[in-house]
Amino acid sequence: MKVAIFSTKPYDRSFLEAANAQSQHQLAFFETRLTFETVTLAAGFEAVCVFVNDQLDKAVLQAIHEGGTRLIALRCAGFNNVDLLTAKNLGIRVVRVPAYSPYAVAEHTVGIMLTLNRNIHRAYNRVRDGNFALDGLLGFDLNQLTVGIIGTGQIGSVVAKIMHGFGCHLLVYDPYPNPALSEFHARYVQLPELFSVADIITLHCPLTPETYHLISTQALHQMKHGVMLINTSRGALLDTQAVINALKSGKIGYLGLDVYEEEADLFFEDLSGRVIQDDVFSRLLTLPNVLITGHQAFFTHNALEQIAVTTMSNISTVERGETSPNEVTTDRVRS
Ligand code: NAD
Repeated sequence: MKVAIFSTKPYDRSFLEAANAQSQHQLAFFETRLTFETVTLAAGFEAVCVFVNDQLDKAVLQAIHEGGTRLIALRCAGFNNVDLLTAKNLGIRVVRVPAYSPYAVAEHTVGIMLTLNRNIHRAYNRVRDGNFALDGLLGFDLNQLTVGIIGTGQIGSVVAKIMHGFGCHLLVYDPYPNPALSEFHARYVQLPELFSVADIITLHCPLTPETYHLISTQALHQMKHGVMLINTSRGALLDTQAVINALKSGKIGYLGLDVYEEEADLFFEDLSGRVIQDDVFSRLLTLPNVLITGHQAFFTHNALEQIAVTTMSNISTVERGETSPNEVTTDRVRS
């Protein structure tokens, strides 16, 4: 199949080419994101292959359909950037990579927790500067703390396992409870209880109309003073302005992010020589108790290999006219 692959970096290309050795699809790599401005690049390709910040809204879907595209192959698990109803009406099929090393994201999540708690990022810079003072680096034991996990699917359940290993108590919330979590003595509760009891809250649910701005001013009011909040899921789970207000008041004591509501104009690019125009993001960067990574939680050898192999296999399955187990539909997600 002829596939236009958007948002590609050299590392994506090498993993995708290796995975395509057997399938022999005709791949064209584009560094740019797929948006309405770049959509003409997809003309003549039966499939487009996209990532988290490509825009598959109604206008883009209509344009790729006119250009002959009938398949969208997502190189990620989340599909919040695809207008599924329009895709269905146009007869464009959508496949994704539902699971690729949940360990990559879970381990990065815990890495952010440890870094924020023990100020490892600040200590690293101090020591390199010959400053061995400990003032300002005071942390706390994770042992016996209560961790609130929202979303207990593949990633959330690995986070539960790791935090159980640290000796933490686990309160969890998910509309579809995962029985495997009983092994870690996790207790399913409703969100108000989780918000009011947890010392650390970490988000592992998808971005949907129900979870948009899940962390709102109202939710923040219910949390403990000084709570640690971690989001490695999707930026819009947080109302960022409400979060900044809570950081200023001390309600949030620590904030760790791998995702940001408006990340599409920032992440995955080297903007170090430019003035960042996003004042909300710039404000976050000024705070000493905020740690941000640029959507890198997935970024391990293991995950990139699995993403590439599953993506090529998804495209081959559709090309053979078979139903893909990784197809995303409007009524349900088969996985
Ligand atoms: P998953 O589908 O295995 O688990 C998601 C869980 O969220 C499910 O158990 C589901 O029932 C639950 N859920 C659905 N609606 C909910 C709600 N309203 N409240 C609470 N829970 C709800 O997905 P996963 O593989 O664990 O991934 C979780 C999220 O992590 C993805 O949706 C994606 O946004 C994000 N992600 C981020 C990165 C990264 O690099 N930062 C990489 C992969 C995935």
